[in-house]
Amino acid sequence: MKETLKNILKPLRLYHPLQSFYRDAVFDFQLKRNRKKYLQFKGSGFTCNVCNASYQKFVPDYPTEENRQAIEKNQVVAGYGENIFCPNCMSTARERLVIAKLSTLNLKGKNILHLSPEKNIYHFIKERATVTTADLLPGFYKTIDGLVQKQDATHFSFTNDCFDMVIANHILEHIPDDRKALLEIFRVLKPNGNAVLQVPYSEKIEKTIEDPFIKDPSKQSYLYGQKDHVRIYALHDYLSRLEEVGFKVELIPYSELKQYYTYAIQPSECFINIIKPTTV
Ligand SMILES: [Zn+2]
Repeated sequence: MKETLKNILKPLRLYHPLQSFYRDAVFDFQLKRNRKKYLQFKGSGFTCNVCNASYQKFVPDYPTEENRQAIEKNQVVAGYGENIFCPNCMSTARERLVIAKLSTLNLKGKNILHLSPEKNIYHFIKERATVTTADLLPGFYKTIDGLVQKQDATHFSFTNDCFDMVIANHILEHIPDDRKALLEIFRVLKPNGNAVLQVPYSEKIEKTIEDPFIKDPSKQSYLYGQKDHVRIYALHDYLSRLEEVGFKVELIPYSELKQYYTYAIQPSECFINIIKPTTV
């Protein structure tokens, strides 16, 4: 029912509150089930940097049958594997990596734009900074931030140089004109501002897999590993796209993120430091 509603409404860029209702109900069900099931694994191993709970192992997540072949064939680092969800709060590996990196920064007094806000990242930055949230379909995010704005990432209504940081975590792979969105993110960032723009990627493929003419969810699942993704980035091509709009980019490989392994971040996911350089 939830999926049917989503499939009908999303292409039409419509939102119905029932979608949030189903999403929240499914979340509550999974949370209760996992807390009970993982009681036996409580103890040292991994510690969640959202809720501080420790378990010998976290909850795994694997691609569905229709998404599996694209993910496996192209070896996409896409947030799947063992130890993905915290059994106590259901935070995700990709949220925990971003929160771990943000913990190293002084966010006090910063002005942050958070696109398609993920709950745990939003709460972390909201406690420390001024946060504006936005999405093309803001209804989906009303339960996270009642003030979420409707914004098109390829055409923001924000002025130039107005944010210290932009967070769009696993968003660009959904946007057909990602280069335009990158230009917009660059434009609204202050010089020296930084962006958190993690995406699923492959180091196996030479070229990004994408075709602007494919707008069929089942084909997208087959080709890109998710029905609402529009590409699989080749890692080096993604870094080039960031550099083309003017960003200074530093890739931190997974092997250099050892201090975060205890948070059960996703094995092999690198972190990309992205800065808008000051013009001289
Ligand atoms: Zn947790």
